[in-house]
Amino acid sequence: MEDQLHLGEDENTLALRRAWDRAMHTLANRVNKPSFESWFKSMKPVSFDGERAVLGAPSPFACEWVTKRYGNLVREVLSQHLGRSVEVSIIYLPPDKRPVLGEPPAEEPSAPKETVLPVEPEPVAFEKPVLNPKYTFENFVVGNSNRLAQAGAMSVARAPGQSYNPLFIYGGAGLGKTHLMHAIGHYILQAHPRLRVAYLSGETFAQQYVAALREHRIDVFRQKYRNVDVWLVDDIQFIAGKEHTKEEFFHTFNALYQMGRQVVFASDRPPRELHAMDDRLRSRFEAGLIADIAPPELETRIAILQKRAQIEGIQVPDQVIYHIAYAVEGNVRTLEGVLISIAARASVHGKPITLQLANEVLARHYVDEKQMPVIPTEQAVLQAVCQRFGLTTQDILGDQRSREVLMARQIAMYLLREKAQLPLQQIGQMFGKNHSTVLHACNRVRSSLHRDAEITSIIHDLDTLLGN
Ligand code: ADP
Ligand code: MG
Repeated sequence: MEDQLHLGEDENTLALRRAWDRAMHTLANRVNKPSFESWFKSMKPVSFDGERAVLGAPSPFACEWVTKRYGNLVREVLSQHLGRSVEVSIIYLPPDKRPVLGEPPAEEPSAPKETVLPVEPEPVAFEKPVLNPKYTFENFVVGNSNRLAQAGAMSVARAPGQSYNPLFIYGGAGLGKTHLMHAIGHYILQAHPRLRVAYLSGETFAQQYVAALREHRIDVFRQKYRNVDVWLVDDIQFIAGKEHTKEEFFHTFNALYQMGRQVVFASDRPPRELHAMDDRLRSRFEAGLIADIAPPELETRIAILQKRAQIEGIQVPDQVIYHIAYAVEGNVRTLEGVLISIAARASVHGKPITLQLANEVLARHYVDEKQMPVIPTEQAVLQAVCQRFGLTTQDILGDQRSREVLMARQIAMYLLREKAQLPLQQIGQMFGKNHSTVLHACNRVRSSLHRDAEITSIIHDLDTLLGN
């Protein structure tokens, strides 16, 4: 029966349908299994005029991908089975535009039989999402705290729908979730401008859903979100407590997921803690990749500040960068906020960006906090050590090797690391030593603390001198 002409079908199209069946077998042997399953299995023959064979793929992305990666292969294999050299076009065939050749319509049996399908994809009016142009992968600093989330996001951006699905990113406020979501959006839109990317927050979804219900526009609402190729939903914790919205959200997600569309969620907590969220939804999340973002460690904070200064085009001395990075933990937004307000103050007063200015801004920033970290400058540390030991800076920074000077030098290194919180490298440079010598000195002092009475009392004195 497959060999019979279908209603409205001509000889050529019948030939294409037959040839495509056999071509599929050949293709299955020519490409690896995952590629075959992802790309070719869902392709359908559409039309053939004797010269050009038109095939349909279920998403604009698949269309571009197969054309780019496998275009020649498909042409070769199809030509072989049609017994003549043909051109091949792969078009986007929305799943709801099927039935395809030779297949009875799956739904709505009363719909008129469509056998000739549009050769060009229908232009779909789709608003581009509003994305922050600064939130790109290039501007995202990777460290241990966010490595998995960044890698997951990158992988999804490179092969939407073919990688982790869904991708679930969670973490505290200001740690870069929104940045990564936007980065995915930018990347996909640039690589595949025809893909329909939607970015919205859980809150927006809830509001739009309620408005659609009220205004009896629920069909429009559904049409909008069930037609996207990439669905990026930020802060989905907002949906957890809302019964009806949750249900709609679940159906939207399911519809997209089943069509192989890429879905990415961000939330301030892991799926297991989205208590009010449906179990069905949670287990779906767990089938994809769940990646957390932790507060950035020191190195990452430094790198983030350096990157931000570079992006803003502001000159910030390393010392000031380290100082801010030490003082502000936990929230990248705050970290960057401090840098920006220091730069703003400097520019308003026409002053250079100095440690002192940084301290003023930090003091303000910590005004409501219980303890304000007192971070001494390197000069303050050296001065205190000199004072306590009765030595000069030259003595400490030079290479005298008396017991007294050696001890003062090691303690200075320890305090520069622990109190002034300078990187080992930088301390090494001050003393003309490498960073492992500094590390060794710091460890010796640390292990003597509370065991060696002399060192303990010296450190105590120095703490007092440094205002702690
Ligand atoms: P969240 O959505 O997790 O609350 P955001 O994505 O809004 O956090 O990030 C807050 C700010 O910190 C943004 O300006 C963002 O660009 C910046 N940021 C966060 N993480 C990084 C990072 N790893 N590299 C560069 N900037 C970052
Ligand atoms: Mg956010």
